[in-house]
Amino acid sequence: MFTEAPLLDVLNYLPDGIIIVDERGVILFANESFSDMLGYENSMLTGLNILTVLADIDIFQKCIATVMKEGKSLDAQTDFLHHNGHIVQTTKSVRMIRLDGNVRFFVNIRNLTELNQLNRELLRSKELVELQAHELSKLLNRKNQELEEILGSIDEVIWYIHSQNLTLSYVNDAINDIFGIPKEDFLTDPTLWQQHIHPQDRDLVEIFFKTLPQGHSQTIRFRIIRQNGETRWLDSRIHHHPKLNIFIGITSDITAPKTQSEEIAFLAHHDPLTLLPNRTKLKYQLNSRLEHSEDSPFALMLLDLDNFKNINDTMGHKVGDDILIEVSRRLQNTIDTYDFCARFGGDEFIIILHNADSTRIDTVAKQIVQIFKEPFAINGADFFLSSSIGITLYPQDASNEEDLIKHADTAMYNAKHKGKNRFVYYHTSMQEALYDVLHIESLIRDGLKQNLFELYFQPLINSKTLRIEGYEALLRFPHPTEGFISPEVFIPIAENTGDIHLISHEVLSQACDFIETLRMQWDDPFFVAINVSAKQFHREAFARELLEYLAQRSIPTSFLKIEVTESTLMENISTITHQLHELKGGGIRISLDDFGTGYSSFSYLAQLPIDTLKIDKSFILPLFNGDSNRHIVTMIANLAHVLGMSVTAEGVEESRHYDFLIENKIDTLQGYYLCRPLTKEQILAKLQEEAPYFEPKSTVGYSI
Ligand code: C2E
Ligand code: CA
Ligand code: CA
Repeated sequence: MFTEAPLLDVLNYLPDGIIIVDERGVILFANESFSDMLGYENSMLTGLNILTVLADIDIFQKCIATVMKEGKSLDAQTDFLHHNGHIVQTTKSVRMIRLDGNVRFFVNIRNLTELNQLNRELLRSKELVELQAHELSKLLNRKNQELEEILGSIDEVIWYIHSQNLTLSYVNDAINDIFGIPKEDFLTDPTLWQQHIHPQDRDLVEIFFKTLPQGHSQTIRFRIIRQNGETRWLDSRIHHHPKLNIFIGITSDITAPKTQSEEIAFLAHHDPLTLLPNRTKLKYQLNSRLEHSEDSPFALMLLDLDNFKNINDTMGHKVGDDILIEVSRRLQNTIDTYDFCARFGGDEFIIILHNADSTRIDTVAKQIVQIFKEPFAINGADFFLSSSIGITLYPQDASNEEDLIKHADTAMYNAKHKGKNRFVYYHTSMQEALYDVLHIESLIRDGLKQNLFELYFQPLINSKTLRIEGYEALLRFPHPTEGFISPEVFIPIAENTGDIHLISHEVLSQACDFIETLRMQWDDPFFVAINVSAKQFHREAFARELLEYLAQRSIPTSFLKIEVTESTLMENISTITHQLHELKGGGIRISLDDFGTGYSSFSYLAQLPIDTLKIDKSFILPLFNGDSNRHIVTMIANLAHVLGMSVTAEGVEESRHYDFLIENKIDTLQGYYLCRPLTKEQILAKLQEEAPYFEPKSTVGYSI
């Protein structure tokens, strides 16, 4: 048909349908795409009039006419009929061409059906996508809200910041509470959070972010300053995200737990009763002082309350506790802020005085002794206390913590030994071993085996006759190598080991020896007062055995008196009362020793078979320090007399003590001013003298 057929063959490769028709509409050529479009065999179309495959004939004819008339191409939409009857929408462009001198029409047909289909599908899928996108974003939004709600409701701050400039990109509501600033402010000013970091922690935070490697997580603790100026401690777990270039963190406010842990730390280092630093803190303090200020001298004072056990035993722990609190308050008021005061144990305190010269140490020590002069008013009652203080100096006395305390302890015992209520500086001549319990236990055993214990006798002077009415038996332990060991040291130890029973037997036997000897030389009645400790009363048979022993040695019971301390009595009143009655019934007189320190109830006193109240020397020695001691002494004397008891004062050291006591009707006097404790031989020798009665002006005595 066409000579140019090979050329036209190229048209077969075009995706659009191409036909060439003559002016009548006969199809001269149709390419493959066109035949495919209409579902015809390609060969079937050639020679066919286009009108047979057109759905709208008019359009085509109009179109041909226009093209012929205007001589140019024309684009129009045309519907074709598919071979199977359905319409194929197309756009076509018709162009008039000349082929072999004839007018021909070149029609380019593009299938719109497919395109439309595609478009529709595209549209549909677009709609679908939009719908899905909408749904998805709705879902995302919902999820976001949920997430936001979840994140908002937790107390931890969840956030992320840009890893380069540390600007905040996201944070949940919790930041509001922690910083006291609305979350929105942090988002509008993404560096605001940095401005609230505690100045002292800024470097720490900066370095943290600089050094946290990508992909790693680490925790950091730092402080922030809240809007109201308050400091908060934060703990942050932070992850350096490797892909997103952010630090993502979860931060919690640990201020409360930290305060709690501070509290725990405080309690670990402080005594819960007095709130003073405790032993642990003291040791820490001492060691760090020794490490860091090797050259600066200091003094360590170990203070032990005198007779505190009595208060605890007789008045109960609540009163004891209140007194300890008051003591710690007074101590703290005495020292400077840069000094240090700790509760070392039960009734022991340690004070460290910094850079103190000897004058200041002396002054403070005196002040401490002085603060006990004021009575301790607890629950409306006045309690009188004193303290014994041992002082060690750094670096003279010791260079380590252990020795400093040990030496102070030695000096403190020395102060007790010297009569309590005083301070004593440590000196190398003090035998530390003496205060080592195990050592003393073994010394006591040796002493008992080798009969080293010796009873001394201190005259008790009748204040009316000025004659000796009796003697207090006071045990001495002169050790060949250790020197004199105080009964105040060995008696409590012997009480613990049970050796007190052997010791007291020794006392009783020597007291009876003394009575026997004295009776032969001395016509006047007299008595020997022996001290009986609480432990002895624990033996039920104590009173009976004592009476039996005297009977066995044919000594009338009137020659013996026993001294029981007020605290011993109050400790176990029911069993002791029973034995006291037995002793009293047997004719032995009873003296209530150390009276005034044990706080016995007066109602008990009236019921007990007590002959004598013996006022403790802690009231007599400081008789002229203030008025209160003199009031107490006269009050006790009145009380004793009302109850039908006699009253004895011990610790009469000065003539003014003596004068006052005589004037105030104290029946019996005992003290260094009158006579020191003497050996049996010394007493016998004294009785040989022309005036064997006591003469106060010339203090006789054997000093130990
Ligand atoms: P205590 O029963 O209160 O004895 C009185 C203490 O005061 C004695 O101390 C005595 O030497 C001392 N003293 C006497 N006059 C004065 C004075 O004017 N000024 C001063 N500052 N002190 C004076 P000592 O002999 O050291 O006895 C201490 C404590 O040991 C006694 O206190 C007593 O509780 C206990 N003790 C002594 N001997 C025995 C004993 O044989 N058996 C028992 N269980 N305890 C004893
Ligand atoms: Ca006594
Ligand atoms: Ca006494």
